[in-house]
Amino acid sequence: MTSQDSALPEAVAARLPQERRVVTDIPGPNSRALQERRKAAVPPGVGSVLPVQVTDADGGVVVDADGNSFIDFGSGIAVTNVGNANPRVVERVKAQVERFTHTCFMVAPYEGYIAVCENLNRITPGDHEKRSMLVSSGAEAVENAVKIARYATGRQAVVVLDHGYHGRTLLTMTLTAKNMPYKHGFGPYAPEVYRMPLAYPYRWPSGPENCGPEAAAQVIDQITKQIGPENLAAVLAEPIQGEGGFIEPAPGFLPALAEFCRTSGALFIADEIQTGFARTGDLFACEHEGIVPDLITTAKGIAGGLPLAAVTGRAEIMDAVHGGGLGGTYGGNPLACEAALAVLEEIERYDLARRARRIGDIMLPRLRALAERFPAIGDVRGRGAMIAIELVRPGTKEPDPELTAEIARRCHARGLLALTAGTYGNVLRFLPPLVIPEHLLNEGLDVIEEAFAA
Ligand SMILES: *Cc1c(COP(=O)(O)O)cnc(C)c1O
Repeated sequence: MTSQDSALPEAVAARLPQERRVVTDIPGPNSRALQERRKAAVPPGVGSVLPVQVTDADGGVVVDADGNSFIDFGSGIAVTNVGNANPRVVERVKAQVERFTHTCFMVAPYEGYIAVCENLNRITPGDHEKRSMLVSSGAEAVENAVKIARYATGRQAVVVLDHGYHGRTLLTMTLTAKNMPYKHGFGPYAPEVYRMPLAYPYRWPSGPENCGPEAAAQVIDQITKQIGPENLAAVLAEPIQGEGGFIEPAPGFLPALAEFCRTSGALFIADEIQTGFARTGDLFACEHEGIVPDLITTAKGIAGGLPLAAVTGRAEIMDAVHGGGLGGTYGGNPLACEAALAVLEEIERYDLARRARRIGDIMLPRLRALAERFPAIGDVRGRGAMIAIELVRPGTKEPDPELTAEIARRCHARGLLALTAGTYGNVLRFLPPLVIPEHLLNEGLDVIEEAFAA
């Protein structure tokens, strides 16, 4: 262990060796055999990034059925921020599973649910009085935020942004920007959803400097002309876009929209499902520009892999809905709540927001140096442990999804689990667990370098 590693949280005093190990082709024979079974049992509409079968995962590695050990730069899409099978998550879930597994909070409540809500009310941006409700998936949280916003404002229009992603249910795929694969053939979509421009610095026509104010002015103008502020229930935005390609809106853009909502009697909803729980170097990405959302949706990193999601918001808004108007059978399942309580303790105990910033401080300079060598890397961006590179045809900004897929494949073949994203499929995104040992982080970056050089 290097001296830097000794600063790591003991959470990764791990069961499995924290190492990259490739002992077969990817996928290996055992994974291929399981892929055959999968083809006969699971429809192709449900895709997978890595064509292997996972048998174990721990800390910053994922192990497959052939004994290959991958460095995890995906965290199950920003879910296992505290490391896979985090020992304290395991411990609390084990204790709970032996007590009771489910009562349904709407039937007979329990303390874990309330404790998770108390914590969310405490740690989310703003010191106003808040309430939280729990559901099982991110899409469900977004659906509920929209329901609550419409109820509380008595208005219907919801504004979302270009490149946005909010889920795959009828309402949330409507809120999502990208047709293929999320919407194609699944219409008709839900009404009263309006899409507006995003302050995308790399692709803003007049350049990144003017991007924030210009984009905000366009959105406000379009809302005013096309919807009417008096009909606007909410603006829903990711503080850094996830599936859209880790696009960090230009400075000033989101604060201007939040302020416009405030003066229009509409709500600003921050979808922090991918950015939350220390991922971006702040507990929530909104904090970076001091935004205090009226409602905030969380999921992914909340419970170390157990299905849990939440809507947190101003007490008067959350309390507006009539009794029994909100809920769901599994929402705030007791196992998931115990996992979330362990996650929140781990984040605070080890200051994982600081760890996320350190990960960004290591990754960004190395990726920028790589961009100097390889002109196919058009943009390097992100905050904390939410980092991406956008690939283009050299000398242009024309997206290069083929090269992106090829680089991802080369990373996989070399034992690095990396994900792609982006409206044009030309973004490689990196989401290491916040507890990843630094030697694995550096080795993962070596692999990316090799993949470009190959
Ligand atoms: C993943 C994601 C969702 C949807 O969450 P699910 O749990 O997959 O339903 C919504 N919003 C954002 C920003 C996401 O990243």
